[in-house]
Amino acid sequence: MLQHFTDPALRARYADLAASSVAKRADDCRAQGVLDRESWQEISDAGIWRLAVDRQWGGDGGTWWDFTAAFEGVAAGGRDLGFSLSMVAQAGLIRSLLVYGTDDQKGYWLPRLLSGEVGATALTETTGGSDVTRIRTSAARDGDVYRLNGHKDHITNGPVADMALVLGRVPEQGARDITLFMVDLHDEGITQGPVERMIGNQTSPTGPIAFDNVRVDARHLVGEIGAGIEAIYNTIALDRLLYGVLAAAYLDPHLDEVLAYARRRQAFKQPIADHQYVQGRITDAKFAIEATRYVSYGALDALLRGDRQASLLCSTAKYHAGETLRLGTETALRVYGHLGYMDGPAAHALQDALGTLIAGGTAEMQRKNVFNQMRALAQAS
Ligand SMILES: Cc1cc2nc3c(=O)[nH]c(=O)nc-3n(C[C@H](O)[C@H](O)[C@H](O)COP(=O)(O)OP(=O)(O)OC[C@H]3O[C@@H](n4cnc5c(N)ncnc54)[C@H](O)[C@@H]3O)c2cc1C
Repeated sequence: MLQHFTDPALRARYADLAASSVAKRADDCRAQGVLDRESWQEISDAGIWRLAVDRQWGGDGGTWWDFTAAFEGVAAGGRDLGFSLSMVAQAGLIRSLLVYGTDDQKGYWLPRLLSGEVGATALTETTGGSDVTRIRTSAARDGDVYRLNGHKDHITNGPVADMALVLGRVPEQGARDITLFMVDLHDEGITQGPVERMIGNQTSPTGPIAFDNVRVDARHLVGEIGAGIEAIYNTIALDRLLYGVLAAAYLDPHLDEVLAYARRRQAFKQPIADHQYVQGRITDAKFAIEATRYVSYGALDALLRGDRQASLLCSTAKYHAGETLRLGTETALRVYGHLGYMDGPAAHALQDALGTLIAGGTAEMQRKNVFNQMRALAQAS
């Protein structure tokens, strides 16, 4: 057994919990296109969101390594990629508040997120997701408050979330005006949904959030006015590496099942596992899984140490996450043959996996970031 960098006891505890909750309800939730709020509450009650949060804010005082161990457990035991994607969004929001929130904001929002309310991070609009500088959502000052207007699209948890970190503009600020707002989605003037009909990840309701003259108290602006882009690129780095952690943990049991099937299934008077081309497909998936797992651990280490390579490694982890999920689930489909192509678990897993080529920043955008980071590091040395 490979030595993981994460706590095996925590991983096993959450894997057991997710196996008896998330995994049991995943098919029903997929059919209904809903987030499994019951399992969400169960893992929240078990304390998953508290793991990386200081005691001062209601957490357990651990680190993101502890959260990562528990998250690996949910990904492996729950076997529901969509549910895990919703968790990545929540984890990213918690980190944004920890890094950029004021004490007042941490005290106000974190207890709600830690106890099981659902969060979202809303950047993308119809104008595009890769180039977030094209957003149009904007806020105008109205005495002590801001009035927020705009429309976000394709937001993980958007149709069901209780709160969101929203990227918008403050035009009165001038050219450098992109700013982060924490918004209570139960406030007046907000419309959530409908849930978008995607080809996968139906258990992670994704869709629009519209803001019609929504009142946002000035105390809920996160970070400096005009500093939203830097803040979001920094905090989204955790989401990126968590995709890599997710890819490896989610695919581990898939690949075990593929191997078991290949050893059972006979063709040309021997198990298909004895055919080298089949072995090659399985080992290619294994190479990708292990590379993704360990680059993600490296990215987390760099991020937590504030290493200057952190952004590069987080994008590397995200890039490999999408490609590995696609390869791993496609490998399963191929090895199962026609059984894999039936409307069932293998095909659903591939459909879910394809979403990770886009969500959290496309492969092209990870390449772009990695190249820019390489150039910047070279110039600095
Ligand atoms: C399942 C899912 C969940 C999501 N959840 C969220 C969420 O929680 N919050 C949120 O804000 N958004 C979310 N999104 C939206 C996602 O972030 C965007 O879809 C993504 O950033 C791409 O934006 P786009 O779809 O507008 O494509 P575009 O930006 O229009 O890009 C289209 C194509 O052009 C390529 N491209 C664009 N610019 C360049 C360039 N400079 N160089 C090379 N290629 C380029 C892209 O890589 C892509 O292939 C989610 C998407 C999915 C699929």
